[in-house]
Amino acid sequence: MSKGLLIVVSGPSGAGKGTVCSALLAKQADIKLSISATTRAPRNMEKPGVSYHYFTKEEFIEQIGDDGFLEYAEVYGNYYGTPKKFVLDALEAGNDVLLEIDIQGALKIKETYPDGVFVFILPPTLKELQKRITSRGTETEESLKKRLGAALEEIELAFEYEYCIVNDEVDAAVEEMEAVVKAERCLIKRNHERIHNYREEEFYVEA
Ligand code: 5GP
Repeated sequence: MSKGLLIVVSGPSGAGKGTVCSALLAKQADIKLSISATTRAPRNMEKPGVSYHYFTKEEFIEQIGDDGFLEYAEVYGNYYGTPKKFVLDALEAGNDVLLEIDIQGALKIKETYPDGVFVFILPPTLKELQKRITSRGTETEESLKKRLGAALEEIELAFEYEYCIVNDEVDAAVEEMEAVVKAERCLIKRNHERIHNYREEEFYVEA
């Protein structure tokens, strides 16, 4: 078992997983964010190495060949991947690592790293999800329908996760995330070494 927690967060587009993860990282500075690689172009405010590592398709394929990803997936026509070395080194050093990735990627990680903490972010209702996506003003009626249909299918996959957090109000959702992380750190299975250490400790009972 690795020394740090591997926290894997997914949820349908519009559920607000990015907002919840950013707020969690702002409160818990000891959790490291894994910065994914992607072949998609940077958006307006995004910075290379901060939002993503931006790769050409050729560079991405080379990394796949070099076994450089913990998982990778094609999402909306672009490739996204989790850099293996960063994550494994951070976990080995005892840091908790947060991955905000799509469901296909999360399920792949679950096969290889079942000790991860798998969290699914849900919108309060589908109506609210529709409202949030509509308010972005980026979708046509057709693509809105597609996204909502996809969201419904994705929500069915929440059964594969261990925790669900309903993002109705961001602060409350972040508190729940913190509670999950705290409880996971206390699990006996993550504290075997600590418990075994008591055997090694010398102690004296006063007569
Ligand atoms: P966006 O292009 O909007 O930043 O991200 C699109 C989707 O790709 C989101 O669902 C996001 O969680 C997912 N994603 C981001 N990084 C990774 C990754 O490394 N692996 C996988 N499988 N999905 C990712």
